[in-house]
Amino acid sequence: MLLSVQQISKSYGARKAVDGVSFQVRPGQTVGLIGPNGAGKSTTVAMICGLLRADAGSITLDGAAVGLGASAAKRKIGFVPQDLALYEDLSALENLKLFGGLYGLKGALLKARCEQVLALVRLNDRAADLPSSFSGGMKRRLNIAAALLHEPQLLILDEPTVGVDPQSRNAIFDTLEALQAQGRSLIYTSHYMEEVERLADHIVIIDHGKVLADETPAALYQRLPAQAALHVELAQAPPDTLLRQVRALPGVTGVERAGARLDIGLGDAVHAAPVLAWFNAEGLALLHFSTARTSLENIFLNLTGRSLRDTPP
Ligand code: ADP
Repeated sequence: MLLSVQQISKSYGARKAVDGVSFQVRPGQTVGLIGPNGAGKSTTVAMICGLLRADAGSITLDGAAVGLGASAAKRKIGFVPQDLALYEDLSALENLKLFGGLYGLKGALLKARCEQVLALVRLNDRAADLPSSFSGGMKRRLNIAAALLHEPQLLILDEPTVGVDPQSRNAIFDTLEALQAQGRSLIYTSHYMEEVERLADHIVIIDHGKVLADETPAALYQRLPAQAALHVELAQAPPDTLLRQVRALPGVTGVERAGARLDIGLGDAVHAAPVLAWFNAEGLALLHFSTARTSLENIFLNLTGRSLRDTPP
């Protein structure tokens, strides 16, 4: 096990921000830490990085304790904080040289590492430019590059796509996928399930400082009552009796009506064809139909009765 987080807690005054969180990261694994704003994600990663002292619990990296001042363990971690940390009046390359110097890198090695990380985040052609001329996404990528200079085994990113344009968002994903291919371990916090699902092989869901689920995306899908959705559009709004009939069909887990449209939850996608055949047999013409896999986005709602965000992305 690369990282082992055991029952860590942290309070700010009377507020318990993190309340007995445990999870693990294996070498080469990407763990997505997901939860709504205020769930305790940043506080959790700050403790893992040794920036904040845990009130209780233990954190070990490669078997060694991580804590305030535990520099050997810290060297194995690269941290990309939510707030950007860059010097606006130094060029991208000068920023990296400064950060590299803090890790004790110098000379030819520092130069080579700067070139490697700039290429990895696809900013090599902007090395001489000031971050003040960069978009929010490019600044974020430079921050990721800075966190990679010392070749950490574990890269921790706290909400790396907040305030990032779509182009940089894709560049960030490409960078992270390249790191995964190199066998690096990642922890990625987000309140967007879709992002975490794309990158993570394990998802830890936290809410009010507690772990609600710690599973593979596939296992999380299994916890959703509906695995697939069938959307059908009828010529007119269907009556309640029809809704009840659809709800009673094999494999149907739920039906919602929106005007002439029905959103039908299915336990499995295989039930879609028989449901469509039933409409046909009943002589109900469909103007349109489509099927979709249910989104993991629904899992949080399912676990807590609340949605992950106040507003959709
Ligand atoms: P997340 O990263 O999931 O949005 P945080 O870890 O930032 O959550 O915050 C968890 C809880 O702790 C929130 O209720 C937040 O208001 C509180 N909190 C975070 N940092 C501080 C701080 N420095 N002082 C007081 N309360 C804090």
